[in-house]
Order: sequence, then structure tokens, then C-alpha cells
Amino acid sequence: MRYYSTRDKKLDFSFTEIFSRGLAPDGGLFIPSDLKKYSNSQLKSLQNLSYVDLATEIISNFCSPDLEKEKLKTLVSKAYSNFLTKEVVKINKVGDIYLLELYHGPTLAFKDIAMQIIGKLYDELNISVEKKVNILVATSGDTGSAAIAALNDKKNINVFVLHPHEKISKNQRKIMTTIGSTNIFNIAIKGNFDDCQKIVKEMFSDNDFREKINMSGVNSINWARIICQIVYYFYSYFKLSKKTNFAVPTGNFGDVYAGYIAKKMGLPIGKLIVATNQNDILARVINSGDYKPNDVKSTLTPSMDIQISSNFERLLFDISEQNEKRVINLMNDLKNKGSFSLGEKEISIIKDIFDAEAIDDNETIRIIRDFFNNFGFILDPHTATAVGASYKVKNDLPTVVLGTAHPYKFADTVKLAINREVSTPEQVVALPDKKEKFEILDNNLQKVKNYILEKTQ
Ligand SMILES: *Cc1c(COP(=O)(O)O)cnc(C)c1O
Repeated sequence: MRYYSTRDKKLDFSFTEIFSRGLAPDGGLFIPSDLKKYSNSQLKSLQNLSYVDLATEIISNFCSPDLEKEKLKTLVSKAYSNFLTKEVVKINKVGDIYLLELYHGPTLAFKDIAMQIIGKLYDELNISVEKKVNILVATSGDTGSAAIAALNDKKNINVFVLHPHEKISKNQRKIMTTIGSTNIFNIAIKGNFDDCQKIVKEMFSDNDFREKINMSGVNSINWARIICQIVYYFYSYFKLSKKTNFAVPTGNFGDVYAGYIAKKMGLPIGKLIVATNQNDILARVINSGDYKPNDVKSTLTPSMDIQISSNFERLLFDISEQNEKRVINLMNDLKNKGSFSLGEKEISIIKDIFDAEAIDDNETIRIIRDFFNNFGFILDPHTATAVGASYKVKNDLPTVVLGTAHPYKFADTVKLAINREVSTPEQVVALPDKKEKFEILDNNLQKVKNYILEKTQ
């Protein structure tokens, strides 16, 4: 498979190249030049595969010829060996909805599903053999810990994780700042997630700096993240054996975009239901066509406290019929005017595929409470927004709600809603006694660069 950029279809990169680069050199996002489409009979032949075999089948479409299928299978199987469910994910019917539990990995959020594979890809693709790699990650709370857990033991890799200072939950922070060995650097930025992501993106666009520290990235703009997330849409469909909607809590448009790709690959999907919190830029753009970032508000769903939704650029590329000039114009509007507006036709294409609802903190609390009272099931607040959004969308299809985090990660919010402690999952029983390690830095590109240079000398 070859890849180009949302801003330049003439670029031509291999999977290994786009994996280690993360972001295209022109500031665009990488896109595969072609997509495998499964016919109904081909889908049937996949329907009884184990999660590992299905993941191998789906992912291999995107990384050949760089990685042979047999090797990939071994890699996938190792990557998921530390998950505490037999089949990596679990589907529960609760009331009218199907809850897809994606949080049984080492750091209790769906980010582990892609990141555990990514950790192994660094080895398998020999990316850090000749030269030490410095991986930069901006996190709204869960990507950071997943990256650290996946890369903690790597000899020739450093990981720098930027999280917004005092804007993530205590347990999110602790899981992230206590698993570090000497190659892990946690940085708390005095700002919000968008500030963290901006700093990381600016470092990627700075070719001298990027080359100097041999920089790599594992944020949700990395295509490797997307391809691992496509798998559980297929898996859910096969478990239910019928066309369904999917409701997805979203910030950076990564997880739900994976569902969009699954649909393009031939999977019968009804609506993709986007759930946001008060940071509702995605709900606004999907419903009105206006993409206008506001200031980021801190909410009870910190992993979705995002106003610059990077992966949306990939959808823009598609709905403009892969017209890179249109994407560049929209991105220039965003940069110069602070917003862009889509045309009627573009909006109607989006509305055919997506629905979107914003769920505020009060509703989130109410949903967690009602869900517990009615079904005895404890939702994490992010998952609760998707449950709430799924209730608002009316069509005849069943809905799979993506459960993105274990409620333990947001125990304080859950306590607020149902006045109960969440029992501690096995993965983190030792957490309370571990020592935290992180550096607090100003929201300043140069200061972060200096810190990284100092640590990589
Ligand atoms: C990252 C995250 C999200 C949002 O995922 P996107 O890829 O940004 O759409 C939702 N919920 C939780 C718990 C997360 O960690």
C-alpha cells in the first residue's frame, strides 16, 4: 500500500515511512491511495475469526508489503496477550444498546488497542535500530499512558508526553506518571490539550528540529492508530450479525473516523453517531457546516476537551472528492480567519453518514446515574456521552456504543453521579503506592524544545 497526503496526492510513501513520520511533510495527514472493499461473501468468510485473526486480516491490507501476514499475526497476538479479556474486547447488551468494552488493556482505555500494536511495530519495522528515536505525544489523558505502557521497555526509544497540567483526572495522571522508566518523560503543560497538540505539531513541522532529534509520533493522526481501531467495528458487526449504528465519544475524530473507514471498506453500518461534550465543534460542523474552534472548556470528560479536531481533515479530503486544493483552502481559512464553512453538498454528504449530539456535564452525570439505577452497570463519563447521543438519534437499527474507558479512570466523577467507589481493576492495584514523576513547563514551544534537547543530549 502506498500513501499520500490530504494536501498533496503526488506524495508517495510506504507504510513504514508514514508510520514513523506520523504527519505528512506538508502539514497534511497521510491517507492510503487505495482501500480494500469487502464484498458480502468476503465479509461472511471473516465472520467467525478470533479477534487476533480478524485484526491480522484487516490491518494487513494497510501494511503490505512492509510486513508479512504471518509476522503481523505473531505481533498482534503478542500485543494483546496482556489484555484481561479473552477476545481483547467484550460486547454486552445493556438495555437497548450494545456496549462495546474497549478498556481491558493495561491502561484502561481504548487507546491501548492501537498503542500495544504500535509499540511492537517500532521493533518489527526496525525503526529504532540505527538511531535513537524520540517519540512525541500530546495527550488529553489516555493516549499518554497507553504510549508509555507500550514503549516503556524499548531500548532505543525515548517518549516525551505532554499533558495539560491539572486538566486530566487524578487516576489518568497517576497511571501515566508512575509507569515511567528512564526513557519516559512526562511534561505537564500550563495550558489545555489544544496547546499541547499545537506544540507537538509545530515541532513536527520544524524539519531541522525533527531531524535533529529523530522524531516520531503516535498521536491519533498517525494512520497506524486508525487501522487498529477499524478492527473492532468489524468484530462488533460479526457478533451482532446485522447492520448497526455506532455511537462514539469523540474529540480528535480518530475513533469515529475509523468507523467511517470500516463503512467504506464495505461494512454495513447505519449511522455513525458522534458524541461530544460542551466542546462541541464536531457537533456544530456536522449539523451546520461551520467549523469554528472556541476556547476549550474543562469538563467531566477531559479526554474530549478538544477544539481542534485534527482527523477531521481526512474526512474533508473525502467529501470534497479527494480534492487537495479544497482541503488546502479550508485549512488556510482556518489559519487566517479562524474558521471555515462547508458547502451545501459537502454538508449533505456528511449528514448522510453521521449524526452528532453534544452532551453537557449535567446530562453526563444523569446518564451515569440512570444507567446504574436501571441496569447496575457503571459507565465512564466519556462512554456516557455516547449513550446519551445514541438515545437522541432515532432510527430502526440497533446501536453499538463504544465504551472508551474503564470507570475507574474517572472514579471521582462516577462517585459524584452514583455515590459509589469503583472497584480497582487488576491492572492498577499497585497504583496508590507508586511515586509520580513529571515536569511542569510553561505553554511555550521554545521551552519545551529546550527541555527535550537537554534530555536527548
Ligand atoms: C481519546 C478518548 C476519546 C476520544 O477519542 P478520539 O480519537 O479523540 O475521537 C474518548 N474517550 C476516551 C476515554 C478517550 O481516551
